[in-house]
Amino acid sequence: MKDITKKYTNGQMTIVWKPSLCQHSTICWRRTTGLPQVFNPAIKPWINPLGATTEEMIVQVKKCPSGALSFFMNAEE
Ligand code: SF4
Repeated sequence: MKDITKKYTNGQMTIVWKPSLCQHSTICWRRTTGLPQVFNPAIKPWINPLGATTEEMIVQVKKCPSGALSFFMNAEE
């Protein structure tokens, strides 16, 4: 897969997703381990950065085992 980087922002922070790194672990979107209101592969775009608080999304992004998900605070860019 090409080295694509997608970004999704809520204005305060930006979630960065690199599909080539994603191992499809399902951790981010499974109901028991993830934030399905933010990460939902059944719809496009599959990341809705307005689905949870910034704090909740930061915690979830840090659980991604592959490094496909990362984030930055917009003010820091
Ligand atoms: S947690 Fe990371 S590796 Fe797993 S499905 Fe989500 S983005 Fe892909």
